[in-house]
Amino acid sequence: MNIPTELVNHYPWLPSLKNYYSEIASKSPSIFITEIFSQDLGGELKERILNLFEAAFENLEEISGYRSDKLNVYVYLLLNIILHSLDNQLITNRVANLYSKINYNELSNEKSDVNLYNICKDIGLDIRYYDPPIKYGINIVKDQQQKLESSFTVHYIDYIKLASNLRDEYRKLVHNSLSEGYVFIQNHRLIRLIQEYVRNKLLIKESDDKDSLKAFVNEVSKVEDFKEIIDKIIETWAERKEEFQFDFKIDFESEEDIVNLFPPCVNEILKKMKSGQNLIHNERLFIVWFLLALEYPVEKIVDLFSIMPDFDREKTTYQVNFAQKKKYIPYKCLTLKSLNSCLAVDYKDKLCLEGYGSVEPSERKKLGHPLGYTRIKQYRASKADFYKSKEPNKENE
Ligand code: SF4
Repeated sequence: MNIPTELVNHYPWLPSLKNYYSEIASKSPSIFITEIFSQDLGGELKERILNLFEAAFENLEEISGYRSDKLNVYVYLLLNIILHSLDNQLITNRVANLYSKINYNELSNEKSDVNLYNICKDIGLDIRYYDPPIKYGINIVKDQQQKLESSFTVHYIDYIKLASNLRDEYRKLVHNSLSEGYVFIQNHRLIRLIQEYVRNKLLIKESDDKDSLKAFVNEVSKVEDFKEIIDKIIETWAERKEEFQFDFKIDFESEEDIVNLFPPCVNEILKKMKSGQNLIHNERLFIVWFLLALEYPVEKIVDLFSIMPDFDREKTTYQVNFAQKKKYIPYKCLTLKSLNSCLAVDYKDKLCLEGYGSVEPSERKKLGHPLGYTRIKQYRASKADFYKSKEPNKENE
């Protein structure tokens, strides 16, 4: 199937790219890089790439002035080469999230369903298009009825493949209408699945073969402009990387660092969020309820979600505010164990595994709730401070 060149320029991650730009595919990366930087537009290309990395490091959700021209194709190809050269999963996650969000916005602004259909066909989806849209059900919320209609159905195998990383309940096959093996899907949900496809295309795994990688980086770095870009990104990363490390600190208003007081089940979710990984629905609920129970400020909770691939600030703020109003209680240990979210064994956490209250193992109480974990740790920390303050000050003796 031939799709318009403009569409490939707009969305260079489309597989048709290799048909339209077959001359690039036949070149080695270093020749490709040398050629594009020897053109007049080399300076603008460098600027676009650096803007994108800056925005990803700043944790922005979009970039201004995104253009869907031929240079956009070069940006995408260079992005792949740069991420491979940097070989850093945290940077890759950040950039892949931002890039996929930009594409989500671009796809959402598409005026024509035909473009969306062509894009889906190009990425190999078994998809059907209906004009006018087909009615497939009624959604009843309280006493309000909403007719459900859609212009698209996707074969259930393709649907499962695309949605496999997005483990929200409502995306599960059982919660979606199916006819003759095809899932009815509304445009915004279809676009969200395509966003995930785009994100996955950039998620290059860290290389096992460091020697080949080094040789590759040496080769491409012979192009001065490319080396400048890589050096600039590494320099910015060095200045900012502490913000991205897993052992990040969370400051409550009291400036108290309490991340050491969190149980493994909580730290694991925070770790995933910080590295830009998707959370499943229950993990999202749990972390919001847990932090709210400790009176963590709403806007800071929303900020924690901001690097997630599907982040929507307005929606997240509404949901966190709603949860705060409802005063939901975070899941207890038993529930977290049944959800496979208890990490006590993996973290070899003594308090979680051995309980508390006595040195005598048979008299120890079992930990029942993650909030209990934090309270016990807080109590122990305050006692340790108390005894420390009672120690004689040797210098004054
Ligand atoms: S025992 Fe409870 S607090 Fe500890 S990791 Fe498991 S669920 Fe979390």
